[in-house]
Amino acid sequence: MKTAIISGASRGIGKAIAISLAKEGYTVIVGYCRNKAKAQEVCDLIIKDGGIAEAYQCDVSAPCQVRAMVEYSKAKFGNIDVVVANAGISAYGMLIDHSDETIANVINTNLVGCITLCREASKVMLSQKSGNIVTISSMWGQVGGSCESVYSATKGGIIAFSKALAKELALSGIRVNCVAPGFIDTEINSNLSQDEKNQIVADIPLARAGTPQDVANAVVWLTSDKASYVTGQVVAVNGGLVI
Ligand code: NDP
Repeated sequence: MKTAIISGASRGIGKAIAISLAKEGYTVIVGYCRNKAKAQEVCDLIIKDGGIAEAYQCDVSAPCQVRAMVEYSKAKFGNIDVVVANAGISAYGMLIDHSDETIANVINTNLVGCITLCREASKVMLSQKSGNIVTISSMWGQVGGSCESVYSATKGGIIAFSKALAKELALSGIRVNCVAPGFIDTEINSNLSQDEKNQIVADIPLARAGTPQDVANAVVWLTSDKASYVTGQVVAVNGGLVI
C-alpha cells in the first residue's frame, strides 16, 4: 500500500492533488483546517472511484497537530511514501497595513507549516530510506509580488528550504521538489474582481488561468518513477507568466 499525505486538500489545488494521487493508487490522507465537510466530500469522491482516503483535521501552523497527523498516518497505514506540503493562505495589501498578527499567521501557516510537515515526514521517510516530498510555492516566491510581500517571503523561503532539504535527503533515497504555480483560479484569489482576473490572464502567454489539475499533474509526475532523477527542482506551472 502506498500512502500520501496532502495538507490543505479540502479544496482548490490540494483537492486536485489528492484525487490525482488516489488515481495513481495512493491511499490518501486529506488534510484540512476548518472545512471538514469539504474534506469529507473529497474522500467520498475518491472512495466512489474505488480509492482509499481519510480526512484528517490538521492546522499546519500548530506543530503538535502536524506531528499528530504524521504519527496517525504512520500508525494506520505504515509507510509514508508521498507528502505534499500544500496548505497555504494569502495576505494581500501594503506591507505597512499588515498587522503583527497577519504577518505571524502567514509565516506560521505557509512557511513554518511546510517546514514542520517536511520534518515530521522526513523522520518516517529516513527510517524507510525512501519517500517523495513536494512543496507548493508560488511564482511570487520566485519574483516577488507587489502587495504580497509577506506571502512572497514565505513562498521564496519554501523554494530555498526545498532545495536545501533535497541535498540533505538525497543519499537517503528521498526526493524533494517544489512546484511554483502561477495564477490558478481557486478560492485563494477570491479577493480579486473578475476585471482583475481578466487583466492577469491577459498577461499570461498561454492565455488562460491555470487549473488545480495543471498543478496536480506536475505533482503526479514529480512523485512518479518518471522523475526518479529529479530532485531539488522548482517546477513552474504558470502558463509562461514567469520564466
Ligand atoms: P485554497 O484557498 O483554495 O485552499 C487552501 C487550502 O489550504 C484549504 O484546503 C484550506 O483548508 C487549507 N488551509 C488553510 N489554512 C490552513 C492551515 N492553517 N492548516 C491546514 N490547512 C490550511 O487555496 P489554493 O488551493 O489556491 O492554494 C493551495 C496552495 O497553492 C497554497 O499554498 C497557495 O499559496 C498555493 N498557490 C496558489 C496559487 C493560486 O493562484 N491559487 C498560486 C500559487 C501558489 P480549509 O478548507 O479546511 O480551510
